[in-house]
Amino acid sequence: MQFSSALLENAVNEFAKLPGIGKKTALRLVLHLLKQEPEKVGLFGEAIIKMRREIRFCQRCYNVADADICSICSNSMRRQELVCVVENIRDVIAIESTQQFSGTYHILGGIISPLDGIGPDQLHIEALIQRVQKEKIEEIIFALNPNIQGDTTIYYIQKKLQSYPVRVTTIARGIAFGGELEYADEMTLARSITNRLPVESYVSNR
Ligand SMILES: [Zn+2]
Repeated sequence: MQFSSALLENAVNEFAKLPGIGKKTALRLVLHLLKQEPEKVGLFGEAIIKMRREIRFCQRCYNVADADICSICSNSMRRQELVCVVENIRDVIAIESTQQFSGTYHILGGIISPLDGIGPDQLHIEALIQRVQKEKIEEIIFALNPNIQGDTTIYYIQKKLQSYPVRVTTIARGIAFGGELEYADEMTLARSITNRLPVESYVSNR
């Protein structure tokens, strides 16, 4: 790609560093910004700079926050004794979007994956154990991706929690709503049968 302006080229190169953005898309976005009023583009740039400079991580659950403690942890309407353990911030956003969970979270910042060189010490596992020690937590709900690394992480943390009087559960894994049994993979179908539910709780949760 040939540019007659180094400023334009620089902006395109910066956009192209974003995930899923190729050079062509980057150029389209930059040209779009070029058509806008400078003030509007200024607001766009400021929002990004301010976000990166001022965002913090909750000292309790490691969620993104505008203060030392995030808005979920500091909300007295949330059930503080219920902690949902997730891999990353995107998982929190996904669960929050369901509007079905009224507890709090704990973000591990990844999952145990020896092949990728990620061990328990690189994750916020110790901080979770400390929360269980200090706070009146009644239940830890694991909402990790259903794969080997997710299961390894659950197993590791669950062993560490054994000596504490806390209920440890995991989100149900089963057939997707609207899906068809014959197309479900064997592992999912097997788990759905093993973790079957009484019909009363299935009906009442609909
Ligand atoms: Zn928090």
